[in-house]
Amino acid sequence: SALYNVDGWGAPYFFVNDDGDVAVRPHGAATLPGQEIDLAKVVAKAAGPRAGGGLGLPLPLLVRFPDVLRHRVEALNAAFDYAVRSTGYGGRYQGVYPVKCNQDRHVVEDIVEFGEPFRFGLEAGSKPELLLAMSCLAARGNPDALLICNGYKDDEYVSLALMARTMGLNTVIVLEQEEELDIVVDASRRLGVRPVVGMRAKLRTKHAGHFGSTSGEKGKFGLNAAQILSVVSKLKTVGMLDCLQLLHFHIGSQIPTTSLLADGVGEAAQIYCELARLGAAMRVIDVGGGLGIDYDGSHSAQTDMSVAYSLEEYAAAVVAAVGRVCDRRGVAHPIICSESGRALVSHHSVLVFEAFSASSPGHIDPATGYLLDELTDDCHADYRNLMAAAVRGDFDTCGLYADQLKRRCAEQFKEGILGLEHLAAVDSLCEIVARGMGAGEAARTYHINLSVFTSLPDMWAIGQMFPIIPIQRLGERPAVDGVLSDLTCDSDGKVEHFIGGRQSLPLHEIPVHGTRGYYLGMFLGGAYQEALGGLHNLFGGPSVVRVSQSDGPHCFAVTRATAGPSCADVLRSMQHEPEVMFEVLKQRTDAATAAAIARAFGAMPYLSFDPEAAAMSSDSDEGSAAGVAE
Ligand code: PLP
Repeated sequence: SALYNVDGWGAPYFFVNDDGDVAVRPHGAATLPGQEIDLAKVVAKAAGPRAGGGLGLPLPLLVRFPDVLRHRVEALNAAFDYAVRSTGYGGRYQGVYPVKCNQDRHVVEDIVEFGEPFRFGLEAGSKPELLLAMSCLAARGNPDALLICNGYKDDEYVSLALMARTMGLNTVIVLEQEEELDIVVDASRRLGVRPVVGMRAKLRTKHAGHFGSTSGEKGKFGLNAAQILSVVSKLKTVGMLDCLQLLHFHIGSQIPTTSLLADGVGEAAQIYCELARLGAAMRVIDVGGGLGIDYDGSHSAQTDMSVAYSLEEYAAAVVAAVGRVCDRRGVAHPIICSESGRALVSHHSVLVFEAFSASSPGHIDPATGYLLDELTDDCHADYRNLMAAAVRGDFDTCGLYADQLKRRCAEQFKEGILGLEHLAAVDSLCEIVARGMGAGEAARTYHINLSVFTSLPDMWAIGQMFPIIPIQRLGERPAVDGVLSDLTCDSDGKVEHFIGGRQSLPLHEIPVHGTRGYYLGMFLGGAYQEALGGLHNLFGGPSVVRVSQSDGPHCFAVTRATAGPSCADVLRSMQHEPEVMFEVLKQRTDAATAAAIARAFGAMPYLSFDPEAAAMSSDSDEGSAAGVAE
């Protein structure tokens, strides 16, 4: 646990239990002893053979914990409620979930349902997101819940948002650009619907990390001071200034400190007060996203991987900054809205995948002496110098001669002077010397049954790190340092940087081939990864199970199970027609081979070590595995 800092990034949801497995506290610190869910047991249930009571799902596997999602929604609301009550703030908190963080149907439905007592709403940034937010809030949302419409808008988007108002949804159209105002005015006249309008302000406050490029004067989004004034004046001219009720801003994701947050919120609160002074019917200040996640458990503001505050401190800073400015300006305290996405959904899922083989530690053949004697004179001179430096214990010189020897041998190999055996002997020699000099064994490569491009897009695209650790054998000291290499034919498909500044990950020896089952978990990846992931090499998404806390023998029930997309599914997404492809191939073969090819179309693209799993994914309709409870 200490080796991987699980308590640092995982609390209060993840910890290492007495069996050495990662376990989940589904209700955070409120989880009763004995109600923790052992992740390894969940994997055994989901991926285990059906003959043994498992669901036979192929890996990789995304395990969703709706209880964790509920706990996050409640914790966020409790933090703001406490900040409001303890400071005598005159407004209330009423947040929204930005669906772009994870548009999965069950995630959004859960958040709306769990947020209903708190009037929790949704934020949309595009037309399909608006459609899903409308239907979800209409079906199960609190009538007061906000529906915030962000993003660039055309007439269709604005009209949809206005129609949502006629359905009784508390919809606010947030202007991202000045030109959107004309679209809103025209559409509202045409449809005869009076809109509620918000404005996104471009703040001068800027954060320095990767996600800070959203903010500052040169940021991509929002209206500057002149544009804000122009919108106010246009609204006044058309008799709609009372429609302007909300001020929105977003400093960027992963805001590093509460002092920067308070700075930004204070600046926005001043704009809010100015708008009230200019006659707008201001009611809501929407502080955007940015509530951060402690990916490495360091609780520091030094990198994008962590933040130096808790949920409670974040809420307190926002409420205090808004209250302070409004009090000074004599403006009534507004409703505070936040669009926290990352902080709500990151913890709720764990991606489990298998390391199926590892590169062998450099093999050293003692009988290589005669090959070294066959080296050319210049190579032999490097060899003698290398050995002399090794005897002196001169580490740096050793490295220089080793590099020189290898380079010279490579050149002579290209000339045809040396053979493969000579190259291998020299590589072994250099490795022996390096080890003898205490350089240790280089990191081994563990091959993982996963696509980094599909499942960890932020990792290769923006260098984001997520905690990755074995989910079992954590009571056993790992013997190996490894890096991870994925299934794609792409050298970017690897994981070589790990939290805590590590260039390799402590790992256990993989069980001997054939026994399988060295599982790793990627944690805190519930936000952004699922929608951003691509289909490089046509690897599709993982299988998914939904796991709730229950009174069963292992404290959990799998309430939903879906195999990941099959080869046919991913081919279809590139406009291929699997049925036609199959017909073409069938013409060339006999019935038995054709049946095997049909099974290949139905199987998941990942490596399959289990014929039963392949068969399972071929009938990938949800019903076959859904509703199976422990
Ligand atoms: N709101 C807006 C306008 C955003 O651009 C974003 C994401 O960058 C969010 C909310 C969600 O931010 P976070 O995931 O940091 O809470």
